[in-house]
Amino acid sequence: MEHFYTIQGEGFHSGRAAYFVRLAGCDVGCVWCDVKESWDAGSHPVVKLDALMKEIIATKADFCVITGGEPALYDLTGICSLLKRNGIETAIETSGTAPLAGDVDWYCFSPKKFKAPVEEAYYKANELKVVINHPSDFSWAEEHAVKVNASCKLYLQPEWSKQERFLPQIIAYVKENPKWSLSLQTHKFMNIP
Ligand code: SF4
Repeated sequence: MEHFYTIQGEGFHSGRAAYFVRLAGCDVGCVWCDVKESWDAGSHPVVKLDALMKEIIATKADFCVITGGEPALYDLTGICSLLKRNGIETAIETSGTAPLAGDVDWYCFSPKKFKAPVEEAYYKANELKVVINHPSDFSWAEEHAVKVNASCKLYLQPEWSKQERFLPQIIAYVKENPKWSLSLQTHKFMNIP
């Protein structure tokens, strides 16, 4: 759908320069999705991997975030190995609803209520990032937290349009439950992609 060099705004790698590759196509259907234009893969052009790699390598990026849409719908073996061969660390942002084909350095698992994740998401996750859009999402987040591996970092992130409502609740929750950290979509505050 698009690719660009920017700053990772959220989660564990927040603040880090990152080349974003956003793959089109998603079958999860989150009502609050902020990239609904990504859902229809057919409405976006096919980009050749070697052309994409040339553009990534032309920047100083040492970190690439593969996102979507739902990037795990695709076999990512090729792009992941090319990135590694060029010394670029890779991360995926996924709802965990499809098994991942491809070797990534960082697996950010962001489960969604609209489609159940596959089991491998829980043991592959380096980071569990739960978007808070409803008061019941706190207990829903805990249901996932007990299933991820022991070293997985835990983040709660307010849904952007409901930030005013949920940010104070998340701050209070994190103070009471310090295994969780707060994640903000700082790129949106900075007005960068
Ligand atoms: S999984 Fe991501 S891209 Fe897909 S609908 Fe949900 S928020 Fe949007």
